[in-house]
Amino acid sequence: MTERAERLEPCPFCGGEPELRPQGNNHTRSRKLTIKCKGCRFQLTNAAIRHGFDWLEKITIDAWNRRAPTEAGVPDGYRLVPVEPTQTMCQAMQEKLREWPRYPFRVAPVYQAALAAAPAAPKPTGQEPEGGAA
Ligand SMILES: [Zn+2]
Repeated sequence: MTERAERLEPCPFCGGEPELRPQGNNHTRSRKLTIKCKGCRFQLTNAAIRHGFDWLEKITIDAWNRRAPTEAGVPDGYRLVPVEPTQTMCQAMQEKLREWPRYPFRVAPVYQAALAAAPAAPKPTGQEPEGGAA
């Protein structure tokens, strides 16, 4: 296929070599593209009706190459937290606020209580293809 196929990351599960397997062509109504690991045989397939192989190849390779962010991606002293506080985080902040006379004019303990109660960041979900697949 194109030079994009040369940019395939190794299999995310076993580190094996992936291969591209197109099915159909730009003149048929149905096109599929599978990336299959030669090691563990894990495979990822996308299909398109209205879009051509260039689009299909781009979204499938992007999906194959996408990896979950590692903890190493977050600098020391920082962590990922939800934009909207969870109920558990709100309860932790309210409990700290009840101790307010002990912390006059100090908001850091309230912030720290919220961070301590924050859930771990979820793994990113797969991106659905736009339009083409039906
Ligand atoms: Zn594999």
